[in-house]
Amino acid sequence: MFNLSLQQIGDALRAKKISSVELAQLYLDRINALNPKLNAYITLQPETTLAQAQAADVRLATGKADVLTGIPFAQKDIFCAKGWLTTCGSKMLHNFVSPYDAHVITQFNNAGAVNLGKTNMDEFAMGSSNETSHYGSVKNPWDTARVPGGSSGGTAAAVAARLCAAATGTDTGGSIRQPAALCGISGIKPTYGTVSRYGMIAFASSLDQAGPMARSAEDCALMLNVMTGFDERDSTSLQRDKEDYTRDLAKPLNGLRIGLPKEFFAEGLSDDVAQAVEAAIAEYKKLGATVVEISLPNTKLSIPVYYVLAPAEASSNLSRFDGVRYGYRAPDYTDLADMYEKSRAQGFGEEVKRRIMIGTYVLSHGYYDAYYLQAQKIRRLIAQDFTEAFKHCDVIMGPTSPSTAFKLGEKGDDPVQMYLSDIYTIAVNLAGLPGMSIPCGFGENNMPVGLQIIGNYFDEARMLNVAHKYQLATDWHSRAPQII
Ligand code: GLN
Repeated sequence: MFNLSLQQIGDALRAKKISSVELAQLYLDRINALNPKLNAYITLQPETTLAQAQAADVRLATGKADVLTGIPFAQKDIFCAKGWLTTCGSKMLHNFVSPYDAHVITQFNNAGAVNLGKTNMDEFAMGSSNETSHYGSVKNPWDTARVPGGSSGGTAAAVAARLCAAATGTDTGGSIRQPAALCGISGIKPTYGTVSRYGMIAFASSLDQAGPMARSAEDCALMLNVMTGFDERDSTSLQRDKEDYTRDLAKPLNGLRIGLPKEFFAEGLSDDVAQAVEAAIAEYKKLGATVVEISLPNTKLSIPVYYVLAPAEASSNLSRFDGVRYGYRAPDYTDLADMYEKSRAQGFGEEVKRRIMIGTYVLSHGYYDAYYLQAQKIRRLIAQDFTEAFKHCDVIMGPTSPSTAFKLGEKGDDPVQMYLSDIYTIAVNLAGLPGMSIPCGFGENNMPVGLQIIGNYFDEARMLNVAHKYQLATDWHSRAPQII
């Protein structure tokens, strides 16, 4: 059961081979057995899960089931879900039970999907290793001494370890793709504006985008069908017709032009990752694709630009957490200002505070022009690099992450080393483009390697086609970690 595709699980449910309640219980038992080793979930509410499964069974019985009805998913703890503890990985929200559903949650609920629980994440989605979570680090199911990547590390570990059928993530600078790569699963960050951010706790609003994380591209396509769509409650939600992201999955790849950015294969890339990615490109040539060398000359500026813009937006977004309205409030204080200060000092972790300080600094009078405005200009140049590149190719490929999963604690005291984990993913967010990661082999210590596929705006269906054809020809995506 745990290795079936979403389509197969749905078929089994509709054929009454298993009920949604039985399926949810199977997963809850597996979570109980394995989660203590992985720490992939922050919150489980079995009664809520089973009640939802029961409702799904009623819907299945009446023949009104949709594709995902009755299937158990996990949700990153960044999505507000009514009646669920929603912490965003932070002590600041340790007691916040959401009174409403995020748009993404509503979409899953309307489809009749079942919520198994909320997955662990870096605090406020700031991190690349899941070590900044107030709820402890997540362990990589392929080697529990290693990180699962971040910030959607709980989701990636839960999907890889078969602790859910599939799950959601969010990606501000790489947080769907990098953990997907490090845990050997598939994940897609859609074009900015495709999935509503309503009810998704904001980190850097001009970059944040939700997306599916699953065991295959085909599963991602089915989830994207449910997650996308215009929502008037998000001012950056795009008014576009609903698409069927499975429509092109089976198309042949003959004539596909793959752009390989020379900057993605330069210094800083580990040999084992380079080898696996090159082997994947060779496989694509066999499938009928051709390869062109392209250049994204501003790649190296994407990290400095991101670490001006993302903290600037975060410093503003996180000002709402003040101990007054909801969340953590310091137990002892003298006056209002002292209450704000102590609540924020005690409620936020180190990395979050670092970002708030940087963000406040780059937005302050005298530095705004030198840092924030300059970064905005370079952001435009980075986006133009892609526009130029897509004149010569249909998709861009390269590594998702410069290395495979590193050891827990290895980059803990060096934020800049940690920030480099996203060197190949961040530019995609800055440009607002869609990007995905699929498993393409194993590197040193038998850790998974991710292949990144970057598409032009709104080209998700083609990217999923490109990923799916590779997954038909190879079996990297169906390998499972041995965890007992
Ligand atoms: N690792 C990056 C950061 O720490 C990206 C995180 C994300 O995409 N949410 O900001």
